[in-house]
Amino acid sequence: MNLDTMKRYGTHEIVDAVVIGTGAGGSPLLAELAGAGLRVVALEAGRNRTPNNFTADEIVAAEIYWLGERLSAGETPEAFGANNSGTGVGGSTLHWGAYAPRADPRDLRLRSDQGVGEDWPVSHDELLPYYRRVEAFIGVSGPASYPWDPARRYPLPPVPLNAPAQMMQAGCAALGVRTCEAPIAAVSRDFLQSGSSTRPACINCGYCHQGCRTGAKTSMAVTYLPQAVAAGAEIRPECFVHDLERDAGGRITAVVYRSGGVDHRQKCAAVFLCAGAIETPRLLLHLGLANSSGQVGRNYMAHVATQVWGTFEQEMRPNKGFPASLITEDMLRAADADFSAGYLVQSLGIVPVTWAAQVTRGRGLWGQPLVDYIQKFNHVAGIGINGECLPQPGNYLELSDEIDDTGMRKPRVNFSYGPNEQAMSRHAAKFMTAAWEQAGASDIWTFERSAHTIGTCRMGNDPDRAVAAFAGTFALLRLTDLGLFIRTVTQNRDMAGCVGISTRRVDVAAFALGGGLAGLGGLALSPIYNVNPTMGTGFIIDSFMVVVLGGVGSLFGTALAALGIGLVDVGIEPFYGAVAAKVIVLLLIVLLIQWRPEGLVAPKGRR
Ligand SMILES: Cc1cc2nc3c(=O)[nH]c(=O)nc-3n(C[C@H](O)[C@H](O)[C@H](O)COP(=O)(O)OP(=O)(O)OC[C@H]3O[C@@H](n4cnc5c(N)ncnc54)[C@H](O)[C@@H]3O)c2cc1C
Ligand code: SF4
Repeated sequence: MNLDTMKRYGTHEIVDAVVIGTGAGGSPLLAELAGAGLRVVALEAGRNRTPNNFTADEIVAAEIYWLGERLSAGETPEAFGANNSGTGVGGSTLHWGAYAPRADPRDLRLRSDQGVGEDWPVSHDELLPYYRRVEAFIGVSGPASYPWDPARRYPLPPVPLNAPAQMMQAGCAALGVRTCEAPIAAVSRDFLQSGSSTRPACINCGYCHQGCRTGAKTSMAVTYLPQAVAAGAEIRPECFVHDLERDAGGRITAVVYRSGGVDHRQKCAAVFLCAGAIETPRLLLHLGLANSSGQVGRNYMAHVATQVWGTFEQEMRPNKGFPASLITEDMLRAADADFSAGYLVQSLGIVPVTWAAQVTRGRGLWGQPLVDYIQKFNHVAGIGINGECLPQPGNYLELSDEIDDTGMRKPRVNFSYGPNEQAMSRHAAKFMTAAWEQAGASDIWTFERSAHTIGTCRMGNDPDRAVAAFAGTFALLRLTDLGLFIRTVTQNRDMAGCVGISTRRVDVAAFALGGGLAGLGGLALSPIYNVNPTMGTGFIIDSFMVVVLGGVGSLFGTALAALGIGLVDVGIEPFYGAVAAKVIVLLLIVLLIQWRPEGLVAPKGRR
């Protein structure tokens, strides 16, 4: 994208925020912050390009893949590189497939519905306005009527079906499975990008994974980043962040990055780490930051991405047309499923070198048989899935002992399919094979694979297990000006007033923060209890005991006390019942505060 006229900030200037990474996470955030009038800088490890730098050439396109070595372990180790992450101004969206289905409401409450995985801390109803807003802004093309959600409307008509999609349509119809044109984040008509220029309609060239030369495919570089730059954000490409400088109180004061072989530091008031599901936990683990929950790097997941391929009499030319142009959601909760959750099915498109590599890896062909098979390229077509993967304790990212050229330890990802993923993949292979048989394919084979990097810094509504809630409150109190003011006023109200802090405004902000956290608590309870105006009263005494025992104003004291009271409670309850357990816990607390009236972890200097 064109960065010639963007605003620039000095490295010694304390900017309001630094955003690390310009992918799907960092870019909308950058645009929002800049739009709100904040001085923001984005640091991006990859290069900047304009759309006409992209060519329909798989070898050249490798430069938009994240090729830094990632070690892969486990029973079903993930293939990295081209398979699942990109780099550059725009992040993985330069390289992604732009297949843009929405989450199903049932996927967000999997634990409540099926007793596995986790519920999301947001509901589908809360997400809905954002889906509509984002789809309208980035330009999503889709069918006039979506069979699994008839009220849904897409801003643009669908892209044409490629030949594999037409085969999938025929095969699924013969099996009584519904299909429709897939929601695609590429513009099927010329599209005036809000705040930028017109994006021309997709020309169905099929090289989406190599970077879209026309700008028809949605990437951050043609949507949110131009908006961010127009609003005053600065984007610095080829800047790899490897350190976060902190003051004596642990508050981040500068981001350290390497550019052109030299280290620079950008002073800042706040940092947003949006470096993707591998580099984000890698940097946090490298620096030993934000991991009081022990959850950083945990819950690594990858979509079950099994594919089935076949050969057809007629020409398929699978490199032509938008790749994933047909969808079925009928398998999201398949009637005959012997597993939890479900999968989406999509038609595939593929380009020749990727195809040859896949055949070698997935079908085990080599030498002349490989040559003979890949010569059938124009007649092959594939169908594939994106299946839910459940979080498991054995699937996680850690730092290995090997150092790479960034000076940091290489990440090692442990990943094994559990019984659920294995059963899902078997079910999908059987269904897709049947669809391909119905469509008239011969020489059908299954390619077992997983794709995409998911998890590692999850949100949640359980503060003991979620990084976001506890770390967010900690970060707010420790790393922001507001947090500093709250702590200052708590420690010495009169002195804070003397140095110009508006103590009344800080009181209001602290009250609002408390109210917000109480709301979060309500959200955490809502999947377990009926929502009603008095649902919190049963927890007031417990909450009071936690704060008194932990020490008023101490976040860690609160966490420690909550854990301690909870453990003592569940230890006593099976023997003496819930009421007796409460009384015993209360008596223990009374005894403890005789010894430490200020609580277990009281902040110093409190008045
Ligand atoms: C081949 C492929 C196909 C995909 N297809 C689809 C699809 O069809 N539909 C779909 O919904 N999703 C798809 N995805 C997934 C989707 O692209 C990602 O989920 C999404 O882009 C993740 O956003 P992110 O901001 O977390 O990370 P990314 O988009 O990966 O952005 C992270 C950015 O951070 C930068 N970075 C990393 N470390 C540092 C550092 N230390 N300093 C500075 N910068 C750093 C990286 O260079 C990168 O630009 C696909 C992904 C790939 C790779
Ligand atoms: S098929 Fe369409 S969206 Fe994909 S690269 Fe070609 S023009 Fe871009």
